[in-house]
Amino acid sequence: MDVTWIQVEPIDPVVLGSVRAGSNFLSTQSYLPGRVLRGAWAEWLLAQGLKESIPARLDGVRIGNLFPCAEWQGLQYASPLPMSALSCKREAGFRSEPSPAHRGHGVVDVLVAHLAYHLLSERGASFPVPFAITCSECGDRMEYSSLFYSVYRRGAQTHYSRTRESYYTQTKVAISRYRRASVDRMLYNVTGLSPRCGSPEGRGSDAQLALIGRVYGPSEKVEELLAALNTTPIGALRTRGLGRVKAKYASVSGFEPIEARLTRFNAALREAWMDLRRLAPEPQDFRESPRDTFFTVDLLSPGIFRQHGVPSLVPRLSIGASFLKPVFWLTRPDLASGWSTAWGLPKPTDLAARAGSAYVFRWDGPPDQLVAALERLESQGVGERCDEGFGECVICHPFHLEMSER
Ligand SMILES: [Zn+2]
Repeated sequence: MDVTWIQVEPIDPVVLGSVRAGSNFLSTQSYLPGRVLRGAWAEWLLAQGLKESIPARLDGVRIGNLFPCAEWQGLQYASPLPMSALSCKREAGFRSEPSPAHRGHGVVDVLVAHLAYHLLSERGASFPVPFAITCSECGDRMEYSSLFYSVYRRGAQTHYSRTRESYYTQTKVAISRYRRASVDRMLYNVTGLSPRCGSPEGRGSDAQLALIGRVYGPSEKVEELLAALNTTPIGALRTRGLGRVKAKYASVSGFEPIEARLTRFNAALREAWMDLRRLAPEPQDFRESPRDTFFTVDLLSPGIFRQHGVPSLVPRLSIGASFLKPVFWLTRPDLASGWSTAWGLPKPTDLAARAGSAYVFRWDGPPDQLVAALERLESQGVGERCDEGFGECVICHPFHLEMSER
C-alpha cells in the first residue's frame, strides 16, 4: 500500500483527549491520534453535504498517529522512544542535542545487545556477569523514560532531540452533553497542546510544533484529507475556537524501506553476537552467527492483544503458514480507552501494551514472504482495534540500528 508522510501544525491549542468520568478536567494527549484526523475528514465531507459518500471516501485509508516534534531544518523523523532506549539516571538526555543546555550523558539502545545475550544464554552460554548497562560517563544506572524525540540532520551532524511540548490551560463553562447548553455553575479546566514548543536551539526560545506521521492509501485520498484538515478544526472544543491546524506533505527520510531495516538489524545482531561470543567461557561451542532471521515489531501506539480470549501484553503473528511468538520483548502495561463521538459514551477499556514496547520474532521461512508480510503488518497494525489507531507499529525501528550512544 502507498505510504505518505504528512505534517500537521496547530495554529491554536489543540485538545486531544476526553473528559474522564466524574472529573472536571479535560486533559490532552501529546500526540495526534489518526482517528482524530479521520473524524475531521468525515466532518468536512458532512459539511459539504456528502454524508452518503463518507464511508466510500474514507474506505481504504489508514491514518497512523502523528508524533510531536519541533519544526526545525533537516528533520528525519519523529517517534516515541522505544523501551530499549536507556539514559543515565543522574544526567538523562541525548548527547547530540543541538543545545549544550539540553545535553545529557547520552541515550543508548540496548535491544540488539540484550537480544544477543538472551539468544546465547538460551543456547547454554554462561556469562560471568548478568546483562547490565551503566552510564559510560559516570557509571550510574541507566533507565527508560517515556518521551517523544526527533532526529535532525544538518550537514554531517546528526542531532537527536527530545520533544519539549508546551501546554495551555483555560477554564471553561461546562456544556451539557445532553442538552448542548451551558450547565449552571459548572466550570472545568481544559488543557490543550500549545502550537509552540521548546526549540532544539535552547536558550529559552520556542519553535512551531509539528505533528508527523504516516497515512496509508491512494494519493488522491491523502490529498483530500489534507484539504479537509486545512479547513476543519480538530480535537475537542473545536466549536469554541480551538483546534485550527495547517496540514501538508512532510519530507521524512529517516525510515528506510523495510527490507533495508531488516538487513541492517540482522547485521547489527550478528556483530553483537560475535562480540559477546568472545566473552563466553567456551566460544567454540557457539555458532559464529545466529542462523535465523530476526525482526522487531515496535509499537508506536498502545497495542491490544488477546491470547485464547485472555488479554495479553504480547502479540502473536501469523505469517504464511507459521504462527510466531516473540522470542524476546520489552513491554509495560497501559489502559486503552476511547470516546465514541457517535454514541456519546466511553468505549470499553482494554488492557494494552504501552507505546514503545518492542517485540523480537524469529523467522526461518523464505525471506521474500517475510518482507511482504511485514509491509502488510506496518500498514495495517498489530492486534485489535487497529481501526481506532491501536497497534500502529514499525518493523526494526531505526533507533535499534545504531549501537553507539546518542
Ligand atoms: Zn551518567
